[in-house]
Amino acid sequence: MIPNPESRIPPKTYHIWTIGCQMNEADSRHLASQFEALGFVETPRAIDADIAVLNTCVVRQQPEDKAVRKLTDLGGVKNKRPGMIIALMGCMVGKREAEELAERFPFVDVFTAPSQTDVLVETILQHDAYKHLSKAQVELADYRLPAVNREKAVTAFVPVTLGCSHVCSYCVIPHRRGPDRSRLPDEVLDEVRALAAQGIKEVNLLGQIVDRYGFDLEEGINLAWLLKEVAKVDGILRIRFLTSHPAYMDEELIQTVAETDKVCPYIEIPFQAGSDRILESMRRGYTQQEYRDIISNIRKHMPDASITTDVIVGYPTETEEDFMETMKLAEELRIDMFHIAKYSPRPRTLSAKMKDDVTPDEKEDRRIRLDELITKINAEKSAELLGETVEVLVEEFQEKKNRWRGRTPHNKLVFFESDADCLGQLVNVKINWTGPFSLIGSVA
Ligand code: SF4
Repeated sequence: MIPNPESRIPPKTYHIWTIGCQMNEADSRHLASQFEALGFVETPRAIDADIAVLNTCVVRQQPEDKAVRKLTDLGGVKNKRPGMIIALMGCMVGKREAEELAERFPFVDVFTAPSQTDVLVETILQHDAYKHLSKAQVELADYRLPAVNREKAVTAFVPVTLGCSHVCSYCVIPHRRGPDRSRLPDEVLDEVRALAAQGIKEVNLLGQIVDRYGFDLEEGINLAWLLKEVAKVDGILRIRFLTSHPAYMDEELIQTVAETDKVCPYIEIPFQAGSDRILESMRRGYTQQEYRDIISNIRKHMPDASITTDVIVGYPTETEEDFMETMKLAEELRIDMFHIAKYSPRPRTLSAKMKDDVTPDEKEDRRIRLDELITKINAEKSAELLGETVEVLVEEFQEKKNRWRGRTPHNKLVFFESDADCLGQLVNVKINWTGPFSLIGSVA
């Protein structure tokens, strides 16, 4: 609903603060589109909003602490403005946690588990100030982009599997997001078509284990099938998917990525640790050699495929020798990008029962050494692109630097100058400077 400009009543405002993974970003976009369908208007600061939503992450202690600080600040604001609605959403809110959180933060009006935006909207609509609004308005607008992002959005995240049924020893996600399940193909494809109609050029299909897509649907429906269907949507130029689990990265999927033009040769596939002993303790379900075999199979089909991985350093009992296995594997496989996390125990996980026996200094030392290695590998790999022409999907104009920013199909960040309006365009850029994590060039 578009707010009536003649109305004397100013529209209600909302603010969604988001931290954590792309799944949270997708949930926040979806929620924003629902709010906008109700005629609410986004405001840049949570403290000014009529409805403030914190979409949280607890995968590590740091984002959880940030959310708690933010929430405490909002509690102070609500003391002065009792009509404000505060909602807590995301991985901080599991079934068991909601009661405990309600006691700890009595000023919070709504607690909603991850991806449950409908529940949140319904609860808000029961509030006296919003009872006159209708849920039907929301249903019509499920896949609309929020107005604030519409102008500049080029890429969007589309969840395809929700939750996770693996029980990796260190991971809190299954406790908060529930068992894994696939979204219905029609729902996903309708969302992609709606995004394309609004000008989105690239979709990132998301799941905690995205390559499990379809395991609970009819035979023949899997991620490979879905990628091919999404590729048929007019207007979508590029498709990515993340995060893959090594156990499900099969031949059919690798071949589909290699053979489907719109699907980028870019694979996010965490190995988490190089040591088999640690991998077993983590309950990851594969060995170092099995991971190595998967990467070589990917490279057999796509020699230049870009591989991104996640690694945890300082997992309980990790010795210097174990860590060196991680270093050696990283060097041998020449992985393109790493997300490094220092281990921290999370509540109710299996590893939380183990002694967190790697000291903070050791964890930091290992993080730095791995980071240095990755920076070196990245610098070498980027240097190979010097003088080459790459295809860049342009995502943003950086006013301050007077340059465009975009990405190659391999997800390398590229900057270049041009007077033309390049937003959302595929532009061929000749690379004339390379750094470990970005490239600079000029229009070819
Ligand atoms: S696969 Fe493991 S690490 Fe990934 S979300 Fe599931 S439990 Fe967590």
